[in-house]
Amino acid sequence: MSIDLSAPPIPFSFEVYPPRTEAATASLHETIRHLAAAGPRFISVTYGAGGSTGGKSLELLTHILRETHVEPLAHLTCVGSTYATTNALIREFLDAGIRSFLALRGDPPAGASEDDVYLGDLESAAQLVQLIDRVQAERSPYSEVLLPGVPGAAQVARRPEVDIAVAAFPNGHPRSRHPNEHIDALLAKQAAGATLAITQLFFHADDYLTFIERSRRAGVTIPILPGLMPITSPSRLKRVLELSGEPLPSDLAVALEVEPTTSGQKRIGIDHAAALAREVLAGGAPGIHMYAFNNHDTVLTVLREAGVIAEAERGLPSA
Ligand code: FAD
Repeated sequence: MSIDLSAPPIPFSFEVYPPRTEAATASLHETIRHLAAAGPRFISVTYGAGGSTGGKSLELLTHILRETHVEPLAHLTCVGSTYATTNALIREFLDAGIRSFLALRGDPPAGASEDDVYLGDLESAAQLVQLIDRVQAERSPYSEVLLPGVPGAAQVARRPEVDIAVAAFPNGHPRSRHPNEHIDALLAKQAAGATLAITQLFFHADDYLTFIERSRRAGVTIPILPGLMPITSPSRLKRVLELSGEPLPSDLAVALEVEPTTSGQKRIGIDHAAALAREVLAGGAPGIHMYAFNNHDTVLTVLREAGVIAEAERGLPSA
């Protein structure tokens, strides 16, 4: 199975993260069952930079592979790792049957300065894209298919390809030194062999649409999936701004702050994300990637309200 964004209906996908406890594992498996039933093109699983969630990520990816019909997509990071460790990690994931990756540099440990920690042999996500491609090519340089009706005869078949996605930053990467650096980084990832980009979350359709226009003008041709996250409380907004370095969306922040009830805040988050999904799709986005926060009801409601999935068609639970 590989990722095809060209087939109708509107493609959508989800991101989840590895569970930290036994109870969270059971509940995430239930969430994955609901997400998979909606028919996403893939479900991606995050990876803790420096290997902090390595085994857990692979366990979850294997669960998706075995228990659903959905393509699992593995995030991999290279920061703080040697060339040999990263090479072995890619082989381990390929051996487990994983064929789709999101190649990331990852962030150095919080508070660490770039000068006093070992940042790793690979300096950028573009180099990781190349390495994944190379490991896959070395592992199965070619395969053979038997010729029907001719005993003992075989012909060389195309080697199975891996899909390699990369990260894109509509509002620039927090560490970019000039306004075009993140577009240059995306071009480098494309040149290295990336087949798809997924964006960091953003809060206004124009952030994405302007970025697409600038990227296309610069020569980026791969599909760029908008990454959307329903922000359903002021505390979640604070947390994602800390993690992503995105600028504060004052309209959404004020709406969440003045709404006294949790159900009202959830409604604000869903409405905001559904409107954003409709706007980016109307502007030509090739699909929607949802950061699910290991919860299915909110993201499925967003997709239903944005007209991406039909409630009656899927018989999905509502939020
Ligand atoms: P690169 O493409 O190598 O760099 C991206 C940008 O960083 C470039 O534009 C460049 O401007 C800037 N940059 C990089 N290095 C430097 C430097 N030394 N000095 C100045 N500027 C620099 N992180 C995880 O740990 N695990 C995950 O599972 C994960 N999933 C993600 C999923 C998505 C969709 C996105 C958007 C991000 C994710 N991240 C994850 C975060 C990501 O690892 C960080 O944003 C990281 O800082 C950059 O990774 P990259 O792959 O874009 O790196």
